[in-house]
Amino acid sequence: MSDEPESTLRMSDVQRTAVRELLRIAPVIDELGARFEKAGEQIALVGGPVRDAMLGRLQNDLDFTTSARPEVTEKLLKGWADAIWDMGRAFGTIGCRKGPWQVEITTFRSDTYDASSRKPEVQYGDSLAGDLHRRDFTVNAMAVTLPGRDFEDPFGGLVDLANQVLRTPGTPEDSFSDDPLRMMRAARFSAQLGFTVDPAVKAAMTDMAARIEIVSPERVRDELVKLVTAPWPRRGLELLVDTGLADHVIPELPALALERDEHHRHKDVYEHTLTVLEQAIELEHRLGGGPDFVSRFAALMHDVGKPRTRKFQDDGSVTFHHHDVVGAKITRKRMKALRFSNEQIAAVSELVELHLRFHGYGSGEWTDSAVRRYVRDAGDQLERLHILTRADCTTRNRRKADRLRRTYDDLEERIARLAEEEELASIRPDLDGNQIMEILGIGPGREVGRAYKHLMELRMDRGPMSQEEATAALLEWWSSQG
Ligand code: ATP
Ligand code: MG
Repeated sequence: MSDEPESTLRMSDVQRTAVRELLRIAPVIDELGARFEKAGEQIALVGGPVRDAMLGRLQNDLDFTTSARPEVTEKLLKGWADAIWDMGRAFGTIGCRKGPWQVEITTFRSDTYDASSRKPEVQYGDSLAGDLHRRDFTVNAMAVTLPGRDFEDPFGGLVDLANQVLRTPGTPEDSFSDDPLRMMRAARFSAQLGFTVDPAVKAAMTDMAARIEIVSPERVRDELVKLVTAPWPRRGLELLVDTGLADHVIPELPALALERDEHHRHKDVYEHTLTVLEQAIELEHRLGGGPDFVSRFAALMHDVGKPRTRKFQDDGSVTFHHHDVVGAKITRKRMKALRFSNEQIAAVSELVELHLRFHGYGSGEWTDSAVRRYVRDAGDQLERLHILTRADCTTRNRRKADRLRRTYDDLEERIARLAEEEELASIRPDLDGNQIMEILGIGPGREVGRAYKHLMELRMDRGPMSQEEATAALLEWWSSQG
């Protein structure tokens, strides 16, 4: 995961991969091309799928751009697509599904943005060239026109793709003035693709970072989520911090770069945090899914309470008392500002708040009830808490790291053992003592205890029984007792 991407791709490899990928989707794109051509409209595969075809990472999402207005597009899709929906007519996008393919078709755009408004103002354009020009990066401004499958690359996207660099089609200043979100997108694509940004792009991001403030929090959040769940989040995060964008979007992160105290007693918390994030990613397989935003974001936020709780002691040492609780509070506030769901906010802040709890475990001194409380407090987040706590060890001291790992193994074993025992302990026979006495017509005594034990054995052997089955089994046992 933290492996660096290769820094260049061979052009011939890129072309070979692209041809292979395009042939794979040929039936879909050729059929669409023919339909639109017959109606006198232009259509082209554009943006992400063209880029991804060349990188050999084409998924099932196919984006197209067309001269057709949305009403016309909708008409042309009828009878061909399996399902059609409106993605937001205001933006000129119609969505449809064809077999496994998710298709989005957007009318040519040449949008202008009002520098003070939060939303782009959509204006339809009249040419593919104009549509490509307003796209964010040259690698996203390539198209394959249909049905002829001609490759359009007016801004040298293919060369940039081979060099793995993000450049804007026009000047980055103009581009970022039009839509400041593109600065976030630069960081996001560098995290997703492992690309670097052109120095001019980085300079413009640095100069214009404050402009991100006019963009809606929801749009910023969506890019941040894509960045954090990408294969190389460190790249994107470092770019946000280096350019000053992070000061506006997630200021808690650059604030972690605490100057060392005069005794160099503690590590740079910022660098520690990025390492914890990468270590959490390496343990993510335990969750059994793909990239996990909650786990990664908790790693990123786990120490955000440190700057505010730092205290220098008289002996020169430094403490961060209650940085877990303070950090959880800061995390909630930031996630709220970024309009995360209540569920996500609760999960991440819970993890931040619990990330230190294990440090009271010592070398296994917790009582069973302390272990139970740990499990109960973590609730649904237990597996993620295991990941975070294990990832939160970045000491270079091998012996110390091994000891911590073994101690956490021990805690996990105790959790498993307790869970098993308590499941067993909660098993009861299907009839209680009173029912046994009533059914057998006897009073309290040894017989009741023996009957209870017998029913318990049956319960263990057979699993739960109905009242009737249990009654019959009890009577059968009773008669066998003479
Ligand atoms: P993914 O779908 O994986 O997020 P993508 O590259 O398809 O990646 P989208 O956000 O879906 O990116 O956008 C589709 C295309 O639209 C991009 O490739 C880019 O050409 C263009 N685009 C999207 N947002 C912007 C923007 N804010 N400014 C300029 N162009 C944009
Ligand atoms: Mg897309």
